[in-house]
Amino acid sequence: MSVKIRFLGTGNAFADGGRSHACIHVEATGASLLLDCGGSSLPAIKMALDPATIQAIAISHLHGDHFGGIPFFVMDQHFAGRMAPLAIGGPRELQARSTRAGEALFKDFFGVITPEYGLSFVTLKESPVTLGGAEVSAHPVKHVAESDPHGLRVKVDGKLIAYSGDARWSEELVMLSKGADLFICESTNFSKSDPAHLSYRELMANRTKLDCGRIILTHRGRETQAHLAELELEPANDGMQVTL
Ligand SMILES: [Zn+2]
Repeated sequence: MSVKIRFLGTGNAFADGGRSHACIHVEATGASLLLDCGGSSLPAIKMALDPATIQAIAISHLHGDHFGGIPFFVMDQHFAGRMAPLAIGGPRELQARSTRAGEALFKDFFGVITPEYGLSFVTLKESPVTLGGAEVSAHPVKHVAESDPHGLRVKVDGKLIAYSGDARWSEELVMLSKGADLFICESTNFSKSDPAHLSYRELMANRTKLDCGRIILTHRGRETQAHLAELELEPANDGMQVTL
């Protein structure tokens, strides 16, 4: 048994380096889910797999580069004739914010047409729930508070994947990544201090506190892109695939 992780989008909100918004596909026997689904994710998903095979979406926080793709995904699956249910988990206001975004973008669909497949939303919390065939829990991290920021822990097929979402450094990242086989960590900045995001230098300064296996850097901004050759941790690229 193995767990396949596909990095479909590794960019930040501004698509620095021409990267797609945050979107990671996790697949194992009986499990298929996305971690985040940013505004530009649907084309990135379709480049890699059939969206109909995705059972669930787990959202880290309410910023458009992390959840803005939901209206497109929901609507696409309706017109594609999806029959399998789709579960979407995330912050408490995810359903309301996704619905409002959908209504703003496609007023002729959202609030008018009900997808025939079962569409459900669940609030993710620290106690794990089954989502897309995996056990998923959400843990508060330090980012823009209004976005209700969380990191995710995903247990599937005997492996543990931790994902920071967007987060500046805090000890919460130590707990989030504890025991993970893979820690997917944002690195928006290289060395710049930022109240909302992590820098590579800050991560490395705290590296010894992290009790986890492989670390892969995602959500790379312009500054990190300019220092790629100096990274001692593995950077993710759009389309990259790893197996645990
Ligand atoms: Zn964010």
